[in-house]
Amino acid sequence: MVEQRPDVLVKGGLLVSGQGISRGDVLIGNGKILDIQDDLSQREAVRTIDATGKYVLPGAIDSHCHPVYSDKMDTYSITAAFGGITTVVAFVGNVPAWGFGGYTTDVIRNFIDDAQKLSYLDYSVHGTYVAADEDTLRKSVPELVRLGVISFKFFMSYSRRGMMLSDDAIIQVMDQAAKDGALAMVHAENGCCIDYLTDKFAAEGKVSGEYFLPAQPNILEAEALNRVAVFSKIVGSPLYPVHLSAKESIPLVKRFREEGMPLFTESCPHYLTLTNDEILAKGPLAKVGPPLREKEDCDALWQALADGHIDVIASDSGGFTKMQKMTGGARADIALEDPNASGENIFEARYGLNTIEFMVPVVWSYGVNQGRITLPRLVQVFCENPAKIFGLYPQKGTLQVGSDGDLVIWDPGKTHVVEQQHGNTDFSSFEGFRLLGMPELTMQRGSVIVEDGQLVGRRGRGEFLPGNPNVSAYAPHGHKI
Ligand SMILES: [Zn+2]
Repeated sequence: MVEQRPDVLVKGGLLVSGQGISRGDVLIGNGKILDIQDDLSQREAVRTIDATGKYVLPGAIDSHCHPVYSDKMDTYSITAAFGGITTVVAFVGNVPAWGFGGYTTDVIRNFIDDAQKLSYLDYSVHGTYVAADEDTLRKSVPELVRLGVISFKFFMSYSRRGMMLSDDAIIQVMDQAAKDGALAMVHAENGCCIDYLTDKFAAEGKVSGEYFLPAQPNILEAEALNRVAVFSKIVGSPLYPVHLSAKESIPLVKRFREEGMPLFTESCPHYLTLTNDEILAKGPLAKVGPPLREKEDCDALWQALADGHIDVIASDSGGFTKMQKMTGGARADIALEDPNASGENIFEARYGLNTIEFMVPVVWSYGVNQGRITLPRLVQVFCENPAKIFGLYPQKGTLQVGSDGDLVIWDPGKTHVVEQQHGNTDFSSFEGFRLLGMPELTMQRGSVIVEDGQLVGRRGRGEFLPGNPNVSAYAPHGHKI
């Protein structure tokens, strides 16, 4: 019998893992990594790619995605692939503003089916529960865990958009998630205080960009984080606060972890690199919740990332046009564009940024190149940790024999000045950033998706990835981060 030639040999690159960097060759066949050695040059493959002088990273995972606005799973996954990402994890739930409605389990089943036809990349799903789901969430959580949806987000703010769960309901989700081996994720900001401050400023006619940060101050994130971490201790459930943005949150993370709590943390590239100056200059275009804060917050988050107190960087990216950001109302939950809204009232403007495509290059340029984090640490926070936390490791997030052949060839000498991203949007929130180090080739399961700035992947090739709660980092015998 003639042995079938493997599909791809990636030769001569510097392989980066969370533990270190070493020169090596990677052989991929039938979508999986077959072998990794110092020298596999005697092996023949259908295609050999010379990665000499380049880094080879596991494909990045964007574990905080909103592919529900202008970019659905087709264009969203294309944009991600251009940025060196090979797995996207989408938030899906009974949220009319996201184009969904109905019983959460059904909404998520439909999303998974649709994405199967659309996505260029492998994908997973986080469930999302909002106020309308308070009576059904106990039923839905175990159904979704059986489907492979093992993480559930809820909001402690945005009651006027129908997003906020009561503290009672939050304890119910956390209790049910703990019973089913799932992970509770939280948007931690004190919504009652945000509503109070917003009303107060609006009544005084203070509705320009300079009043946005004062309406969502740091202390409201810290208060909500402390409250929900206490719930987590009482209930005995693991917790993953999304998009931490305030320096005051870091000491809380340290304290709860020292007490032994299974607490996993996320921040986003914009909280590391953008400040309130953006909203002063750009108004609604830079509105995001939690808000962009001050330089001291960015510095504290970089330090926490280096010290291990932030585990994951994810994009929290939407996919908006300038028109949608300037005219879309925060309360116009269904219409993406409201012709009656002027964008002059910051409190009525839509939340969200376009950050996905340049997320990894921005953290490379501003983190690794500037000596704030190491390259192995970058691989931990974009690849290994999200895979371990969301039950996808070692299929995803690592270059190991038996793992999926998902990798990125990275050119550390390539420069790029950000203008806009791919997909249906017309701006990037990192516009004007000068980057050094860019992905050159993105591969999923041995097939090239993007190469030399060209899309060569195929719509509908992405597959749904069920998360496995038994291997996740919060499980008693799961993969530790
Ligand atoms: Zn989000």
